[in-house]
Amino acid sequence: MSIQFSQGKLQEEEHQTILQQVQSHMQKAAQEAVRGVVSEVVEAEVTAKLGREKGQPRQANGQAREINWKCGNCGCMDASQFIRDGHYRRELQTGWGTVENLPVPMLECQQCKHDVICEYAILEKYKRLWMDLTQDALWSSGCGQSLRDICDRWSATVGHSVGLRTMNERINQLSALAEQFHHQPFEQVPQVIQLDGIWVTITTEGEVVLHDKHHRARHQRQGKKRVILVALGFWTENGQEKREIVDWQIAESEKHEEWEVLLRRLVVRGAKASNGLQAIVRDVCGGLGRAVELVYAQSVIDQRCIFHKLKNVRDKCRTELTGDDHQEERRQLMHEAKAIYQAESAEQAKERLALWSTRWGEAAPESVATLQRDFDATIAYYQLEGIALQWVRSTSLLERVNRQLRRKFRQALSFGSLQGAEVALYLQVQRLHAQWNDRSWWDASHALYLEHVCHVGIGRAFRPFPPSKRSMRLSPHCAFRTCPSDSFWTLSMQGRSLVL
Ligand SMILES: [Zn+2]
Repeated sequence: MSIQFSQGKLQEEEHQTILQQVQSHMQKAAQEAVRGVVSEVVEAEVTAKLGREKGQPRQANGQAREINWKCGNCGCMDASQFIRDGHYRRELQTGWGTVENLPVPMLECQQCKHDVICEYAILEKYKRLWMDLTQDALWSSGCGQSLRDICDRWSATVGHSVGLRTMNERINQLSALAEQFHHQPFEQVPQVIQLDGIWVTITTEGEVVLHDKHHRARHQRQGKKRVILVALGFWTENGQEKREIVDWQIAESEKHEEWEVLLRRLVVRGAKASNGLQAIVRDVCGGLGRAVELVYAQSVIDQRCIFHKLKNVRDKCRTELTGDDHQEERRQLMHEAKAIYQAESAEQAKERLALWSTRWGEAAPESVATLQRDFDATIAYYQLEGIALQWVRSTSLLERVNRQLRRKFRQALSFGSLQGAEVALYLQVQRLHAQWNDRSWWDASHALYLEHVCHVGIGRAFRPFPPSKRSMRLSPHCAFRTCPSDSFWTLSMQGRSLVL
């Protein structure tokens, strides 16, 4: 490394050149180091598999050494039949740039003289991108960066263009996980489930084809309004209050048929009264009430959401007590309305409501009528037993959770596609859970990759099927199938397919 410094004060241009040179040297040095580490690790893996160092002769006594790598031709898995057979060179695209000429050891089977298929722990076959880039994609996508932005950054990092399709494949590795999320039985059934619909706009490709500035044919994108039906679970675990998003459903409307799909799924997963579910908290939105009635009948307490109720009262009182002159009155009215819900008992709450109504009846009759409407449904929580009441009646908590959900979901879907929406939502759900558990999204997203995508991998987790069975159904809309080559799994979901 030779960098020329002049004796005097550096000129601006000179300073910039030096910084650029240093940066480029650093990157080259990092790539060298990465190559060294990777090749050391793969050599060590070969040594462990073979049970002998490089140059050490094969044991002739014929003691078999069964390993999980096998000859691509005869299927032999006995490492005492394998010998080192030079290296092939490959490139590896990493967060430090593209590492060229990476030597990867090859093994030869002595029974048939064909190549052994070596599956290295740190290298994925046929994948040029290393896992740090996938981890980065999950992190960035969860932070709300667009796929195009992530592609741009990766292209600059690895030195040539990384396409949207590559990016999609990497991120969509999570779709099976998202699908699993909707169907796995509850380990612990929430005591309370809050239901809410969040309206978002999802961009999709339309019918109209336009040409972009590079004269490529592109479908015009159009926004479609969709509602995400969300189920938020609350329970106490080891004396600690816990909340988690337990399920969601992308729907076209809030009709009871749509809500019913989500509710039936919750029941199948175990969320019912006999397993400890005590209450449903909900707003009066669309057909939700009817769906709750159909699915849960009278088995659980049907609690109206206080947060939404008070929001409606606030909206009303803004129209009745308008302007700056009434600001203090509005504040007082809301303050007193909130206090009703902090009463010790249902009776006390009703007494407070009566007092409040008399006090405000003249100045804000509609606000009063709004709060009085179905009031009993908003104080159903007094029937709950042994549960952290705060979860149900703390308006500030519900408000915060609602705000976070809306912001995250809208941000994630504003540039997404219907196809990517499931994964985008899954990432947001994971990010919120990390936040609620005081865990950084950085740690959580990296762990998400390590625990679910790489080793146990979505594709690999299902690998040990009996050879006769070539597909596996996860749900009515989701199945794994082997490709003709058998080296990949194809995941098909709702009629779409993707190769893992
Ligand atoms: Zn062989």
